[in-house]
Amino acid sequence: MLSIEFRRNFEEQYREERWKEEQFAHQNGYFWLPCPICHRFFGGHEDCGTLMISWNRGWNTCKRCAPEAKRRSDKLMKEIWLRREKEQAYRWAG
Ligand SMILES: [Zn+2]
Repeated sequence: MLSIEFRRNFEEQYREERWKEEQFAHQNGYFWLPCPICHRFFGGHEDCGTLMISWNRGWNTCKRCAPEAKRRSDKLMKEIWLRREKEQAYRWAG
């Protein structure tokens, strides 16, 4: 079990790190926006994932949510692909 002190140090470290990243983003012209999945702020200079919201449009997510973003994007792409195949099948049949 984590001690309260350890947890407090961890949180402080996390906040300090985020604050530094935020300053860097503002000073260097990168965006500083909430992640669409977890709503934590992250900067355009940081590693990130991509959450697709349509065939050719996506949002950046924070690094932590990259695997989840990929999972959701793959699912969406598969759905779009299947829909297209179905539409084509109808077209050929008709
Ligand atoms: Zn996130």
